[in-house]
Amino acid sequence: MSEVEQAQHPQIPAPNEETIFDKIASKQIPANIVYEDDLVMAFRDISPQAPVHIVLIPKHRDGLTRLLVAEERHKALLGHMMWAASEVARREHLEAGWRLTVNDGVWGSQSVYHLHFHILGGRQMGWPPG
Ligand code: 5GP
Repeated sequence: MSEVEQAQHPQIPAPNEETIFDKIASKQIPANIVYEDDLVMAFRDISPQAPVHIVLIPKHRDGLTRLLVAEERHKALLGHMMWAASEVARREHLEAGWRLTVNDGVWGSQSVYHLHFHILGGRQMGWPPG
């Protein structure tokens, strides 16, 4: 990212800058972890928007500040994240239905620039989303 772009998007971390999710992944900051493997971690959102609200992150950001910047080399990790989301939904007994959301960028209302999926369930979801 150029200096001008960084200035326009001050919330986007520099490549080596830690995000709150890096600190959760490295267990410097505690979280209520519901699933973890070599590549990903899922934990309960600190400000839940549904009875079940879980955040799923790659443990290593590897440039994935947001989905828009995904590259060919991220395809396996992204596929694994989709599988892990389904595993979390099964463990949370979300058979009645659930939602998988990525808030991407300013207009997508993204607040943490470390790629993450929101797993939401336990109530009827509305459409269109706000
Ligand atoms: P975004 O708005 O970027 O899509 O979502 C970031 C999410 O991370 C929000 O739902 C927010 O509540 C959650 N979050 C932010 N900081 C923390 C934290 O320290 N712990 C946990 N468990 N969730 C967090």
